[in-house]
Amino acid sequence: MVLRLYDTLAREKRDFVPRDPKRVTMYVCGPTVYDFAHIGNARPAVVFDVLYRLLRHTFGEGAVIYARNITDVDDKINARAASEGVPIGRITARYEAAYLEDMGKLGVLAPTLAPHVTDHMDAIIAQIGAIMEQGCAYAAEGHVLFDVSAYENYGRLSRRNLDDMIAGARVEVAPYKKNPHDFVLWKPSKAHEPSWPSPWGEGRPGWHIECSAMIEENLGLPIDIHGGGIDLVFPHHENEIAQGVCAHGHSAPDAYARYWMHNGFLTIEQDKMSKSVGNVLLLHDLVAQVPGEVVRWALLSAHYRQPLDWSAGLITQSKSALDRLYGALRRSAGMGGEADPALLAPVLEAARDDLNTPGAMAGLFAMASELERALNAGDQARAGVARASLCAAGELLGLLQDDPETWFRGGADEALAEQVEALIAARKQAKLARDFAEADRIRDELTSMNIEVMDGPQGTTWRIRD
Ligand code: AMP
Ligand code: ZN
Repeated sequence: MVLRLYDTLAREKRDFVPRDPKRVTMYVCGPTVYDFAHIGNARPAVVFDVLYRLLRHTFGEGAVIYARNITDVDDKINARAASEGVPIGRITARYEAAYLEDMGKLGVLAPTLAPHVTDHMDAIIAQIGAIMEQGCAYAAEGHVLFDVSAYENYGRLSRRNLDDMIAGARVEVAPYKKNPHDFVLWKPSKAHEPSWPSPWGEGRPGWHIECSAMIEENLGLPIDIHGGGIDLVFPHHENEIAQGVCAHGHSAPDAYARYWMHNGFLTIEQDKMSKSVGNVLLLHDLVAQVPGEVVRWALLSAHYRQPLDWSAGLITQSKSALDRLYGALRRSAGMGGEADPALLAPVLEAARDDLNTPGAMAGLFAMASELERALNAGDQARAGVARASLCAAGELLGLLQDDPETWFRGGADEALAEQVEALIAARKQAKLARDFAEADRIRDELTSMNIEVMDGPQGTTWRIRD
């Protein structure tokens, strides 16, 4: 079963063949940490987390190096620090911590590397110097600009033609630019803004150079897979290619990255999320109300290249899908077995077909049905195998790793759980003492607390009613 990935550069699905199967490299553009992430920012993190899991499954856990950067130098960060009157490090540390906490709730694994721009000034300056030496960039008025006319493949990724772009130019035309599309590699900082020394004066890097420099420094060129949201194709990724390729006098874009992957955009009730519309849904707020796994399910419920529309209905559907699967796991609690490759195959096959997560989720339901059939037939051995397969497939997608009892208890806090457990124990005692009136009274008390009690062959379990 080969892994096939849609490559934005080729505009088609290609078999994924890493440069070195013992060292598979992937880089995804990460967050700019000036505020809480919104739900759209969570989409690439979750999508590429599934790809990371799949690559580890395919090539081995130690064979995959995944880097997701933290952008901690940016105008928006400067603006926020100035408005709060604190150094930028205070802002970036606060929002990076919040981002990582929220990603943890979504079941996103920590990437192998999380490079920060502030730790890579030497690498950035070295790469800018190399691009200049190759004659592809020039210094002007404290700036260093990339000369787009020096790279013959500029526009290949986004399929834009430089002449058309110049004709329809809407970019800022600064007097020191040779060509309106020349972009900044280094620029002077404004007064009171953070700056770093460089051969071209005190200043700071442009946005695009951070990724190509951190990729070269941490992963080495070319990398196997480069990912991000579809909005990054132009100009960010186009410019990254130009920098990464030209720093070494190459020409072909695959001297920088061999496969390009982009997730589609997330909208809210059919609208673009934007501050001006006032519909920005912060991940931090959402995961305080809805289990992270429900959010993850919702994010994976559409194919990653398709647009995804967020709505209350999507959350309800995602919750009930997980309830069904966790229900099957709860009914088979304690039944052990080895995962069956034949049962796992449809899920793996879907995932390997350009991360077809809706197809993989359908595979999970098929496994749950198999598990329920075995339970209904009283075939514990088969149920154990189906259960193990469902758990293994869930792990591949970063789902179903919770204890089913905990899942159904929802957000019950410790104190409530203790109280419920104590009442259930007292009810059991009452039943043993054949005091059925007391047992019923305790059940009623639990009902009044909105707790449903279920007596089964494995003992008594409970959940909070919806
Ligand atoms: P930013 O912090 O704005 O640089 O974005 C971080 C990542 O989130 C990038 O890969 C963006 O492409 C992605 N992204 C931003 N908005 C959305 C959205 N509405 N839907 C999907 N991805 C998004
Ligand atoms: Zn980037």
